[in-house]
Amino acid sequence: MSSSPPSRDQIVATLTPITDPELRRSIVELGMVREVFVDDDGRVRVVLALTTPGCPIRGHFEREIGAAVGALPGVEAVEVAFDVLNTAELAELGVRLGRANLPAGALAQVRTVLCVASGKGGVGKSTLSANLAGALALTGERVGVLDADVWGYSLPRMLGVSARPEITAGHKLRPPLAQLRVGPALKVMSIGFFLKEGDQAVVWRGPMLHKTIQQFLEDVEWGELDHLVVDLPPGTGDVAMSLAEFLPQARFVLVTTPQLVAQRVALRAANMALKLNHEVVGVVENMSGYLDSDGRHHEIFGHGGGDAIAGELDVPLLGRVPLTIALREHSDAGKLLVAEQPDDAAASAISDIAARLRALAPQRSLPMADPIGVGLPMAS
Ligand code: ADP
Repeated sequence: MSSSPPSRDQIVATLTPITDPELRRSIVELGMVREVFVDDDGRVRVVLALTTPGCPIRGHFEREIGAAVGALPGVEAVEVAFDVLNTAELAELGVRLGRANLPAGALAQVRTVLCVASGKGGVGKSTLSANLAGALALTGERVGVLDADVWGYSLPRMLGVSARPEITAGHKLRPPLAQLRVGPALKVMSIGFFLKEGDQAVVWRGPMLHKTIQQFLEDVEWGELDHLVVDLPPGTGDVAMSLAEFLPQARFVLVTTPQLVAQRVALRAANMALKLNHEVVGVVENMSGYLDSDGRHHEIFGHGGGDAIAGELDVPLLGRVPLTIALREHSDAGKLLVAEQPDDAAASAISDIAARLRALAPQRSLPMADPIGVGLPMAS
């Protein structure tokens, strides 16, 4: 005699260990299980709501759910159907991701978190992170810089910081300071402080990376900050994912070059942020032409990329930063151009962008998720 079908609760319990491979949390905990139906003949139907309509991991869920539920005594057939989370549910998911893992009290004194992202390397993301942080500090605000570009960390060098973090009496890491020519110093944290010079070969395994990012947020004595500027690794991936869990309130700035062909990769990075329920505040177009000594403008990297992406994402183009020799030289020398040579065309463009970001910054204190205004993410 075959056993009677399992209860709805038994099925939900069986689904609980199944995780979303991207968000790394239980599909039950994430609120993705929309419907569980079981009839008297042991036929089970599970409806799973996904974060994007074009979610490429349907097959994964079908297999996992089919195997787990199918193994329960009394189950004759399993049907897995899909739906999409609506905007309110996505917002709720962002809150769940954040609230569940946000270290209580950590970063409680940080007013805004600004993540600087790009689709690919070499577009000037780190240079802009450093100089934007500097430009914000020049207005008298308290600024920290977190180098989360764990594979291509360059901020200690760009900011001319060689001191190592100190361990405080409370077993926290005190971030070294980057002294600017004028204005308050920046608090800086980077994996580069913990590695030997030239030691580039860090092999990160997912959990280790996650733990490191957590430590950078939780175990670093950031203190009171008006802005924490985070330099993300290029592309989409594990670091953005970890930050999304720890910092649901982070806002993203997307750096791109004027090249139209670079658009798709930049959009992917933006879509990742949107998928994780972060706000994309705007786009910065870097390497936006070069002015020669005769005053002629050369569009070395083409034209229109920043506008195109800003248009597609429906966010403002925060500014265009031209190529200048002084910006490259200062970065190489570990000096911040915005502080050393504020009249340089690139420096003044970056300062204008910082002013725009200040104007757009929320005034209230963190931590608070701010999922409002995030539309349904686009499938990529
Ligand atoms: P990413 O972080 O995107 O990989 P970097 O910030 O390391 O890029 O920049 C790559 C190189 O380009 C660096 O040598 C940097 O000094 C230079 N660079 C970036 N933006 C500019 C600019 N607007 N003018 C001149 N050089 C720039």
